Amino acid sequence: MRITFPHMGNSYIAISSLLKELGLDVVVPPPCSKRTLELGIRYSPEFVCLPFKINLGNYLEAMDQGAEAILMAGGWGPCRFGYYAQVERDILQDLGREFNMVIIEAPDSKLPSLLNQVRQMGIKTSWFQVWSAIRLAWEKLKAVDRLEALQHYWLPRVADKSRCESMVDAGLKSVDGCGELREMAALVDKVDRDLSGLGRDVDNNNPIRIGLAGEIYTLLEPFANYYLERQLGRMGVEVVRDVNLTQWVNDHLFGGVLPSAPSLHTTLPLATPYLQYWVGGHGRETVASTVGYARQKLDGVIQVAPLTCMPEIVAQSVLEKVQEEEGIPVMTMYFDEHAGEVGIITRLEAFLDMIRWRKMKTGDTDAKNLSGSRRRLCQH
Ligand code: SF4
Repeated sequence: MRITFPHMGNSYIAISSLLKELGLDVVVPPPCSKRTLELGIRYSPEFVCLPFKINLGNYLEAMDQGAEAILMAGGWGPCRFGYYAQVERDILQDLGREFNMVIIEAPDSKLPSLLNQVRQMGIKTSWFQVWSAIRLAWEKLKAVDRLEALQHYWLPRVADKSRCESMVDAGLKSVDGCGELREMAALVDKVDRDLSGLGRDVDNNNPIRIGLAGEIYTLLEPFANYYLERQLGRMGVEVVRDVNLTQWVNDHLFGGVLPSAPSLHTTLPLATPYLQYWVGGHGRETVASTVGYARQKLDGVIQVAPLTCMPEIVAQSVLEKVQEEEGIPVMTMYFDEHAGEVGIITRLEAFLDMIRWRKMKTGDTDAKNLSGSRRRLCQH
């Protein structure tokens, strides 16, 4: 059985490793592209959220490469995610595609139930092999998170942005191809050393720091957010993102107790004065992250979500109060297939310009930094 799964940023590195180590024949869908989205749009309901459309495109492209089964997460709650897998299955069946759909229900802290679901896929490996596969995939997740964090830090600070991006891409490729648990950390350390050897951007020694919050898929899949993190890095901004893959696994499979991984469980209470209830998706986490970023004295927050995402619409309505009371500027960006790169860059420039003037007014930046930042803006 040749199995595929939807893309979500660099998660494919760990997911494909896990499935291969469990003895499955894996078809990784081609990276998300305009074609992926076009295929998804053609066969999806018009008003469904963007991640659904991209997922559907992923499946169709993977099936063209021989995939016979789809692994998809199930879900429940007040938003549409709980219906994704079933609706996607019906659409593909209506298109005459023949395949199996394996729906892994959200295990929320019940690791044994997840392992049982995985074994029901017909995997004939021992528990020891399952454990080794999980450990390797976990190390890959950690490596991916570290590489992304390195990019957040170095991209605004180095002069040769393209070189920085290619070094991170090469690092991700090495992690993808690495089968040795012990080599993983060394691969990332090497990328770290190489990045710190790049020449600095002398006009940007004190970059603006922006926190990203919002719906997890749109945050982690660069194609869905029009490469927002790299756009910001190239504009001289250091990105801070507390939603990542190890945090998600820690919070949803281990109840947030793994000491070696971040957890939003600790920051979630920060949302309570503004939003007491779970509203589905990452709505409450978005509010908590924004309050957390304000208290870490970041310069601003961008909320990222697909158009019509209900939990993020609820969060957005609350963020107005958070902005006022916590004293941090927040901008919301919704993405769908009609968004355009030029419009996105214009909004980012306006937001950053406002933050720079705000910083200058409060004496939080020196004249050299401001003029350097403004020069960069003029070059766009
Ligand atoms: S969280 Fe938002 S984007 Fe995700 S399924 Fe729910 S409504 Fe759609």
